Amino acid sequence: MTPQQLAGLLKKPELNDDDIVTLLGLTDPGLCGMLRDAAFARTTELLGPYVYYRGLIELSNICTANCRYCGIRKANHAVKRYTMTQEEIVEQAVWAARNGYGSVCLQSGERHDEKFIEFICSCLREIHEKTKGPLLPKGVGVTLSLGDQEEEVYRRWAEACGNPESLRYLARFETSNPKLFAMLHSTPGTNEKNLEHRFACLRSLRRCGYQVGSGVMIGIPGQTLEDLAHDIRTFQEIDVDMIGMGPYLRSEGNDLESLGQMEPRALLQLALNMIAVTRLVMGPVNIAAATALQAIRDDGREMGIEYGCNIVMPNLSPQRFRKGYQLYDNKPCLDDEPTHCASCLEKRIESRGRSVGWNMSGSSRHYLRRMGRPDEVKPAKDYTPDGKRLIRLRAI
Ligand code: SAH
Repeated sequence: MTPQQLAGLLKKPELNDDDIVTLLGLTDPGLCGMLRDAAFARTTELLGPYVYYRGLIELSNICTANCRYCGIRKANHAVKRYTMTQEEIVEQAVWAARNGYGSVCLQSGERHDEKFIEFICSCLREIHEKTKGPLLPKGVGVTLSLGDQEEEVYRRWAEACGNPESLRYLARFETSNPKLFAMLHSTPGTNEKNLEHRFACLRSLRRCGYQVGSGVMIGIPGQTLEDLAHDIRTFQEIDVDMIGMGPYLRSEGNDLESLGQMEPRALLQLALNMIAVTRLVMGPVNIAAATALQAIRDDGREMGIEYGCNIVMPNLSPQRFRKGYQLYDNKPCLDDEPTHCASCLEKRIESRGRSVGWNMSGSSRHYLRRMGRPDEVKPAKDYTPDGKRLIRLRAI
């Protein structure tokens, strides 16, 4: 493909399946740069200059599922299991709110027992009460990422959160290819996860009022460019509000180790191409720069921002828990504390021409439009609620 041909393709109002496959497969650095610039410009045009934080709280690594790719799957007995206390979880969320993060994400392994369900309700109620303040009158926004659940459970959590306008759920379908999905989830003798069921969960989430997020892993052994193009079409079909995607990385404790992983440079480029094409096709949805990008290259998440991401999820988990939550190998920042992550990240984001949307909940603009709601306005004040830290806000 010549630069002229690519420029023509990038100007098309709608990309067809062949175009998508072509763009995903770009490897020439000059052409990849053109794709990046088109996606970045489109993101600015649709969403302005802001990147929003979701403070990530990895509250427990106890899991009842056996997803073969995942380092904390149930059958990995080498992992020491932990669950943070309610006090520790709430403390992290309050820290996030005080430091200008408009929202947090609670993620964990998958559990379905009543004790866990009620524990989450209780955490959500307390987070809501303790994060309400002048800059966040409705409390911090919350994204949940707690796996497949019954609709009734999603409803209970939605009620407990107290801030339905900024309530989100992230459940990646991992791949839209049913054969690949089965390969990823079937350990001999069991087949716990089912692609159709995961889609049903996404529909339940929508009925319960969540902004619905999903996503895939990129570079799964056996996955083709056509599979990834079909994943994007599936995002359209589900009409997702948010997308979280990252490279598939091997993990010592997982059950796919023998299949290896793609060569890191090619894998990173494929993941970035996928982000850019998804932005071009999906318009004003939120797209998160996955931490897994940073596991391949130190500035991988910033590259994600250049290729069209507008969300970053700084890890808020206290350092002592981080080693227990290694979904894949080389997970970055294992030795850092949250305070370090916050300041380091702002510099990284600004270095790529974006600003942090301090004290903004950063709801998906796609979602706001669907609901007939106005775009979020940036707060007038430029101090965090505790007045300690000057937050720099810039006009759009
Ligand atoms: N248990 C919840 C949330 C935790 S897993 C759930 O299943 O939804 C969050 C995401 O981490 C998964 O959706 C998966 O896409 C990603 N992940 C897990 N193992 C991975 C690996 N080896 N490489 C890359 N991403 C991985």
